[in-house]
Amino acid sequence: MHEVSGSSPDTPIALIKFLKMAGIKEQVAILVQLQEIDKEIYILRRIGEEKPKEIEKIREAFQEKEKLFKEMEESLKEKKIKLKEMELELRTKEENVKKLQIQLYQVKTNKEYASMQKEIADLKADNSLLEEEIIKEMEGVDSLEKEVEKEKISLEDARKKMEEEIARVNKEIEELKEKLKGLENSRGEFTPRIDPPLLSRYERLLENKQGRALAQIVKDSCSGCNMGLPPQVINEVSMGEKIVTCENCMRILYI
Ligand SMILES: [Zn+2]
Repeated sequence: MHEVSGSSPDTPIALIKFLKMAGIKEQVAILVQLQEIDKEIYILRRIGEEKPKEIEKIREAFQEKEKLFKEMEESLKEKKIKLKEMELELRTKEENVKKLQIQLYQVKTNKEYASMQKEIADLKADNSLLEEEIIKEMEGVDSLEKEVEKEKISLEDARKKMEEEIARVNKEIEELKEKLKGLENSRGEFTPRIDPPLLSRYERLLENKQGRALAQIVKDSCSGCNMGLPPQVINEVSMGEKIVTCENCMRILYI
């Protein structure tokens, strides 16, 4: 005669039931603790996914500023070319006036003299208009040049700031990775204590349910989806004989 473990016909049914019950209840309790870690892992991962976008935005903001600066530089260049052309035109026109003034001494008739004088006067009038335009253009170039200088300094500031910002975000990414590593480690203290099929079911739920695989029963409702739960479901969860899920959101229920 010898006593055998669990399955012995001598073992009272109630005891087997109790052992099984403790098993499931204990595992759910571990899952509740694991869920706390996984919730944080989920949040940190989402934050981590946003970080490269943050860097991209910082870069784009700078590139926009840089683009505007380049356009400004380009417009200054064009203005300078235009100014040079106007100055050349003025010089040519002034040459023409000089030539006419020399020719003026060579004309024979008064009529010819008068008409040439008029031509010279018209040309001079044109030239003084052109001169005014050139002065205006020069002022424009001057003020734009100053603006470009100012913008150049501000752009360099922005470049430094961008680099600092990117370095800050990269540091945050590193810190997140460290935190996640720590959480993964503490996760490893819980996972070996859960039945593998239950663990993989839990992990699938984690993925599908935004990091929340478990739902507590609060005021007869599932806290995951706020759906009211039938008394029979609540009873099953209290008994702790099996894993019970919410029919609506599929999360594993616990009390
Ligand atoms: Zn639910």
